[in-house]
Amino acid sequence: MIEKFVNDTNYLDQHFLIDKSVINAFIDACNLGITDIAVEIGPGKGDLTDTIARRVKHLTCIEIDRDLEPFINILKERHSNIDIIYGNALNVFIPDCNKIISALPYSITEPFIEKLLRCNFEEADLIVGKRFADAVVENKIEKLPLLTNSFFKVEKVFDIEPKAFNPQPRVMSSMIKLTPMLRSELKNNFKKFVFREMFFKRDRKLKNNLMESLIEFAKVHGTKLTKKESKSVLDGYNIDKDILNKKMENLSNEEFKIIYDALK
Ligand code: SAM
Repeated sequence: MIEKFVNDTNYLDQHFLIDKSVINAFIDACNLGITDIAVEIGPGKGDLTDTIARRVKHLTCIEIDRDLEPFINILKERHSNIDIIYGNALNVFIPDCNKIISALPYSITEPFIEKLLRCNFEEADLIVGKRFADAVVENKIEKLPLLTNSFFKVEKVFDIEPKAFNPQPRVMSSMIKLTPMLRSELKNNFKKFVFREMFFKRDRKLKNNLMESLIEFAKVHGTKLTKKESKSVLDGYNIDKDILNKKMENLSNEEFKIIYDALK
């Protein structure tokens, strides 16, 4: 079984960190401590897991690939503070913790960030595609960076070259640190506040979603906006009717930008 992962390098888009200096730099930047309750998503062959388990009080690993069990069993024998959940991190319940550590396939960055919005944690240390990391720290007005920046403070820690992994990914990677923001922290950031509200109600038509979000923004400032008043604010934005009839999940990046620029 173990040989399978040495030979079958494309299995499940798995890229394992092999550069010891990058592994150490990543784990050091996670600032782990003996009181930490951590969750590692996608432990793989356990190259990070072994050191994480030594530094924290408790570690829950969530791994989709049951074939990696032989590697994880070795770690479980070595550390009594590890629990393992086999399943898709996008579907399983992520237990409350203070640290989340993960290097998931870059193709599931968006659903994973959406999952994190609903999890209870203090800090997430992630390896992501550099393109996404840069778009977030540059505050790009596109769906995924906007979503991420409306819920988290984001710090890019360092970039990682493809050669640090085996097999090598085609793109550069980055370590980023996410710290959840409270809704009240966005009280003075109108656009981010409104987008955060709208991301939570993405199944509603944008028109209603936006009006309700304006009402919520007024509420946190101790004022009351009636439905009629919020409709008139919305009319003042002159956003195309076709866009207003869409749901958040169906908007293109260009349409996100149109709404962002229209908000005043
Ligand atoms: N953390 C290891 C490392 O850095 O060497 C492995 C990283 S590898 C890029 C991604 C890991 O996440 C693999 O072990 C893969 O099986 C696992 N994985 C991929 N998709 C997953 C999902 N949806 N839920 C849980 N684990 C997943």
